[in-house]
Amino acid sequence: MRTCDVLIVGGGPAGSSAAWKLRRAGCDVLVLDQERFPRLKLCAGWITPEVVRDLEIDIGAYPHRFLTFERMHMHFKGLHLPVRCVQHSIRRVEFDAWLLERSGAPLIEHTVRQVREEQGAYVIDEEFRCRYLIGAGGTRCPVYRTLFRELNPRAAALQTVTLEHEIEYDWRDPDCHLWFFDHGLPGYAWYVPKQDGWLNIGIGGMAERIKRSGRSIHEHWALLTGKLGRTLARGARYDPSGYSYYLRGPVEVVRRGNAFIAGDAAGLATRDMAEGIGPAVRSGLAAAGTILTGAEYRLTDVTGASLGGGAVSRLVDWAMTRGAGKAA
Ligand SMILES: Cc1cc2nc3c(=O)[nH]c(=O)nc-3n(C[C@H](O)[C@H](O)[C@H](O)COP(=O)(O)OP(=O)(O)OC[C@H]3O[C@@H](n4cnc5c(N)ncnc54)[C@H](O)[C@@H]3O)c2cc1C
Repeated sequence: MRTCDVLIVGGGPAGSSAAWKLRRAGCDVLVLDQERFPRLKLCAGWITPEVVRDLEIDIGAYPHRFLTFERMHMHFKGLHLPVRCVQHSIRRVEFDAWLLERSGAPLIEHTVRQVREEQGAYVIDEEFRCRYLIGAGGTRCPVYRTLFRELNPRAAALQTVTLEHEIEYDWRDPDCHLWFFDHGLPGYAWYVPKQDGWLNIGIGGMAERIKRSGRSIHEHWALLTGKLGRTLARGARYDPSGYSYYLRGPVEVVRRGNAFIAGDAAGLATRDMAEGIGPAVRSGLAAAGTILTGAEYRLTDVTGASLGGGAVSRLVDWAMTRGAGKAA
């Protein structure tokens, strides 16, 4: 049986952030992921300046595609609001592998199936044993499923459903575009260019409300790509894939003994924009901090709103979720 102090299930942003902080403090850390890196993660790849700051990324030294938007175009049912900003895009396939490698933590390709407690330790699949366990395995995290699901059930009304495709495309418009609530979608669609000729197109919304609306996510996708074919992305061809995750609800229990959950495993994406990378990074760092210092594991510094938390955030949150389960 292989032993370590801290075992992290999942090498996405939550897991790699925790691993990075723990390794820098000299901890004995091991990361398990079911996929071989670099791995595909469905995601628009928009990251905020907070992510760059939290992870102390030197943008000039980042070795992969990185694009900064100085303007975002918000479209609300025909109303066009260009907003000056500083936001960024990366390709997840590159970013996640780079973060994990930078952490310096050993990575083993392994699909975690079983987690059990034994005399103050955790045993994983009868192969790994650790004193601290971080569940950073995303929506289907086995640590969440085994140790937290009953204590911290996810609200069905906060489940998002998405469709996206990232393609090589010689885009002309270098700004990010977002279309909110088109054709009754309880969510938004995006056009996110990446450096050097890559483009991510996608659509996401609240799963239950889409189901009830009578128009499927695939029909919304067809409307979006039809529009883009006439405007920003002429001639582009797509083969979209879907994924689902949870917006932040009243997250009650994120630590149990020496086991923690972070990122999508804890359902932390923001209520107004469904932004999950920033919350994954912050919560991963916070879990690592607790292991290092013994401080309480708290999510108070993990934002639940991308648009500042004021009136606009609350309005978009309400329009998406109709107030389903207040955020913690
Ligand atoms: C279509 C789409 C677009 C999005 N766009 C954005 C965006 O632009 N900006 C943003 O901030 N957020 C976005 N999000 C949300 C964001 O992708 C997630 O919130 C973020 O990836 C969460 O990070 P994480 O580390 O918690 O989980 P993940 O990134 O999902 O990583 C979890 C890891 O755990 C591994 N794993 C899972 N199960 C097991 C197991 N049993 N054993 C071992 N390993 C396992 C997986 O292979 C994976 O590598 C988007 C999501 C989707 C679906």
